[in-house]
Amino acid sequence: MHETRKREELVRVCRHLQDRGLVAASDGNVSCRVGSDRMLITPSGRRKGGLEPLDLILCDVNEGTIVAGRGGASSEIRMHLLVYQQRVDVQAVVHAHPPLLTALTLAGIPFAAEILPEVWLSIGQVPTAPYATPGTQQLPAAISPFIKSCQAILMERHGSLTLGSSPEQACMRLEKLEHAAHTLFYCHLLQGKMPRPLSERDLARLDEAHRKASSA
Ligand code: 13P
Ligand code: ZN
Repeated sequence: MHETRKREELVRVCRHLQDRGLVAASDGNVSCRVGSDRMLITPSGRRKGGLEPLDLILCDVNEGTIVAGRGGASSEIRMHLLVYQQRVDVQAVVHAHPPLLTALTLAGIPFAAEILPEVWLSIGQVPTAPYATPGTQQLPAAISPFIKSCQAILMERHGSLTLGSSPEQACMRLEKLEHAAHTLFYCHLLQGKMPRPLSERDLARLDEAHRKASSA
């Protein structure tokens, strides 16, 4: 039952990613933990919006070996495994190809999370990992320095990786970031440059307000 619900949630998130234009066709991959030593991950090369719960592949979270499922697991399985191995708190990983966030990496513009309070509070720093060949061991190596301290990473010329306590949370983080990227883009259109980040003082106030709210 537990696993059945997770399969359903993962498939729901895949449909949502496709409906929102955060992936096209077979782009992207999504996974979540099942129990302490397993994970479910999307199969490779399939249209993510058309997946059914039983299409998902069940793997060992340490070795990456397939426990159940037909066809091959995502070509980015090593990236997902690395996240789970480094972050016991992470329950789900979403890799997508969001157009505007990816365009920022093409333009060489870092995503400044300190500009919008909501992004700063709910996600924090969003570094861009240097380009690495998709589907190879290069990709986990490129994101590795950022995994321990971040909930979201952009990958140059490729896309995004968001982490969460559930597939829904990892997906919401991605949606927030792509939405924020639109806001920054509109601002750039209006004033011809990127907006200023919040001041150190405003960021400190924000962190303080958040600390108080979460300890209340
Ligand atoms: P898979 O279909 O193998 O998961 O690959 C999609 C992708 O986005 C590769 O980076
Ligand atoms: Zn990809």
